[in-house]
Amino acid sequence: MASPDQIDVLDHGFVRLDAALADDLSVVNAARVSFGTQVTELNERDRGLIGFLMRERHGTPFEHNAFRFHVKVPLFVAREWQRHRVGSFNERSARYSEMPDEFYVPAAEDVRTQVGKPGSYTFEPLPPETAESTRQAMRGVYAAAYASYRALLDQGVAKEVARNVLPVALYTEFFWTLNARALMNFLSLRNAETAQREIRMFAEAVERLFADRMPITHAAFIANDRTAP
Ligand SMILES: Cc1cc2nc3c(=O)[nH]c(=O)nc-3n(C[C@H](O)[C@H](O)[C@H](O)COP(=O)(O)OP(=O)(O)OC[C@H]3O[C@@H](n4cnc5c(N)ncnc54)[C@H](O)[C@@H]3O)c2cc1C
Repeated sequence: MASPDQIDVLDHGFVRLDAALADDLSVVNAARVSFGTQVTELNERDRGLIGFLMRERHGTPFEHNAFRFHVKVPLFVAREWQRHRVGSFNERSARYSEMPDEFYVPAAEDVRTQVGKPGSYTFEPLPPETAESTRQAMRGVYAAAYASYRALLDQGVAKEVARNVLPVALYTEFFWTLNARALMNFLSLRNAETAQREIRMFAEAVERLFADRMPITHAAFIANDRTAP
């Protein structure tokens, strides 16, 4: 049975909270240390304090916690994700390990067309037959690419060279550790209408796991129009 801390995303991906040292109390106590006081339980005033810190963008009290995620995503999503510099990453190596035959094929409803100008595109559905032929085309390319990869490996070509034939839809996995402040920055940008649909689906999963562990902080983030402190 899948763990409650793992959320499956797309056809082969997931976000799994591997460990967390995170709660709302840490935010309140990090702020209260300014006055030399600490609490062991949260009350209504503390909820108000978290809202105040969020609104006024007193960001540092949101840094005294850690979330460690294990994530499996297509390479093109990993590339967007790893632009977020505040956080630590370790990723599967295609130099040292043979990559499995797992590529992202969008669901028919996710095969879309873009309308408008760069910066203000909207994405519209395509007719079902175009969606299906797109999916078929992708499957064909992935099968050919993976067959070439295997053939190169079988001829003794190094993994780091053979991987060049694999497309960006290939799945990779990484560990990602960060604090709630950086996490909210990620969510504000990636669980947003302007983000690419695929990374947004992963960001939604990250947000659910974050909200589970720090519900008051999460509620304050929402109340603050999803602006990170
Ligand atoms: C919709 C969308 C479209 C995008 N399109 C492009 C694109 O076309 N091309 C492209 O290259 N990137 C693009 N990006 C990536 C974007 O430019 C950022 O690299 C990415 O979103 C990470 O954001 P960040 O710097 O806030 O996060 P982090 O790197 O995690 O940084 C968190 C915060 O720390 C501070 N910080 C971190 N590093 C520095 C620094 N060196 N100097 C000062 N402050 C710092 C900033 O306050 C920052 O917000 C896009 C992102 C989105 C969401």
